[in-house]
Amino acid sequence: MNLHEYQGKEMLATYGVVVQRGKLARTVEEAVMAYQQLQAETNTAYCVVKAQIHAGGRGKGGGVKLAKNMDDLKQHAGNILGMMLKTPQTPGGMEGDGKLVRKVLIAEDCYADYDKCKEYYVSILMDREKKRNVIIYSTEGGMNIEEVAEKTPHLIHKEYIDPLVGLRDFQKRNIAFNLGLSGNVYKEFLKFIGNLYKAFIGSDAALFEINPCLKTADDRIIAVDAKVTLDENGLFRHPELEAMRDTDEEDATEVEAKSYGLNYVNLDGNVGCMVNGAGLAMATMDIIKLSGGSPANFLDVGGTADAARVEQAFRLILRDHEVKAILINIFGGIVRCDRVAQGIVDAYKNMGNIKVPIIVRLQGTNADIAKKLIDESGLEFHSAIQLQEAADLVKKMLS
Ligand code: GDP
Ligand code: MN
Repeated sequence: MNLHEYQGKEMLATYGVVVQRGKLARTVEEAVMAYQQLQAETNTAYCVVKAQIHAGGRGKGGGVKLAKNMDDLKQHAGNILGMMLKTPQTPGGMEGDGKLVRKVLIAEDCYADYDKCKEYYVSILMDREKKRNVIIYSTEGGMNIEEVAEKTPHLIHKEYIDPLVGLRDFQKRNIAFNLGLSGNVYKEFLKFIGNLYKAFIGSDAALFEINPCLKTADDRIIAVDAKVTLDENGLFRHPELEAMRDTDEEDATEVEAKSYGLNYVNLDGNVGCMVNGAGLAMATMDIIKLSGGSPANFLDVGGTADAARVEQAFRLILRDHEVKAILINIFGGIVRCDRVAQGIVDAYKNMGNIKVPIIVRLQGTNADIAKKLIDESGLEFHSAIQLQEAADLVKKMLS
């Protein structure tokens, strides 16, 4: 689950990470109030207006603007709120439709005495091959980190963390040293990175990206941006973070699927799949590819594939007009195949208007009874018991 920048900063602050101060606004009036409050708390007249969407690269698309006074602020807030913001990371990139901006963060300007400020890059994530968390960092922070990684990869450093002992002091010093810090700001950074790592572990995060991580002219270290992705599997331990979910930013069909307890991910292909179990769902997607199709979705209906669930799953799949065939692949381990078959037949009858061919492969307990049920239903099903048969049927239906 992704957090907005303002939410990520709020969470980081609870771990003592120093963040750019800011207030959220949904309207220009709220932005004006936020600006006034911020001015009362800080001693700078400047502030930045930052679009809050789940995508990075906002600066490049005009979603981050510096305001030097109230007039600027009103203008920027007015322009950014309600805009379709295109960034290299929104769907379709700079040529796509962009994402609607519903909220802006009015943040203090941290760049007083601009030339003495320095932007660094710091991120934390899990390196699956090394089976360790890694802190990736660079002196070349700011808006072009992707280019730095591509053209001058030697400027990107990594520090791997032993899961048993955590981030050690010498590692913090190593990072601060490689960033070229010294004196007071060196010490500030040690605290910063220590707290950041605590936050990463404490929140069960999957990714932190602080870019820029700013060294101010007066030698403070501040998280000016915060991209936070949390591990969905750890969310049950953090109801306060779960409450930050912004369904406006998520795929509507995926959100709906979740509310039915279905595990659904929308993809680009033409064969809808309905499968029980994540592993089987992956294998099914492979076999669809091998037979010349491409999966339109990943859908794990879970252990209880009853009629109601199957019907919800059908509805979700059929909402995608690219779908030319549906492959149902269920392994009856705990659930009996004949039950599932009955569910499929009932759902199909209930819906009435399914026009695409459906290939049903039921294997496991009572598979033979299930196949009989499907074949004798009088409905437009094509049944298979072997996965290869199912794949061949998919191929036939698509040609
Ligand atoms: P992103 O483009 O989505 O990564 O958004 P960021 O929060 O990183 O902001 C983009 C850029 O805006 C940063 O790289 C900074 O250069 C600039 N920026 C952010 N906050 C401030 C600020 O307080 N003052 C000034 N002058 N620039 C800022
Ligand atoms: Mn950024």
